[in-house]
Amino acid sequence: MFFILYFNFFYFFGIIKGSWGDIMLKTKDILDEKDKRLRNISKEVVFPLTKEDKKIIKDMTEYLVNSQIDELAEKYDLRPGMGMSAIQLGISKRYFVIVYEVDPEATDNSKRFETYIVINPKIISNSTEKIYVDMGEGCLSVNREVDGIVPRYARITVEYFDELGNKKTTRAREELAIAFQHEIDHLNGILFIDHIDKNNPFKGQNEYRAI
Ligand SMILES: [Zn+2]
Repeated sequence: MFFILYFNFFYFFGIIKGSWGDIMLKTKDILDEKDKRLRNISKEVVFPLTKEDKKIIKDMTEYLVNSQIDELAEKYDLRPGMGMSAIQLGISKRYFVIVYEVDPEATDNSKRFETYIVINPKIISNSTEKIYVDMGEGCLSVNREVDGIVPRYARITVEYFDELGNKKTTRAREELAIAFQHEIDHLNGILFIDHIDKNNPFKGQNEYRAI
């Protein structure tokens, strides 16, 4: 047991100092789809959060905000994303961050974001209606265009804990609902590409609603 903790500590330390230094998280720090760690089933988080987890949450939030501000995304070469799970940084724990841009038409200066820090989430109810992203879903770990339909519930209710351990309930719909389902999949080792029918990528096109 001691050995495992000791190992994890230095493993973590290696990530922080090795790849990130004291500067911000970069696109290259995010695991690529070929990395087997993305297939891990992440473990439930025990409260209180460790200092390391708090730092990772802060870094993920910063990345996601900056990546959606065109000027900063370009400056720091960040691939835009609205969600990131800890496992995408190699940390096999059940938490993720979603930074949701409220008004997609807004310019850099007027952008408003809602940030969700989501720990140990459970979907407690879902609509029967399913939707999919017309342009195709994307993922910070999948650095290529992937065509095909990823069916998602149009509306879900999710229970989870915030970083202080407070229980939260969020009703999400449309794009935000998809983001929650995409990130919860990550915690279970699933990538969006797994949902696409290989023989018929556009299967369900008439059955589900495009957004
Ligand atoms: Zn993803």
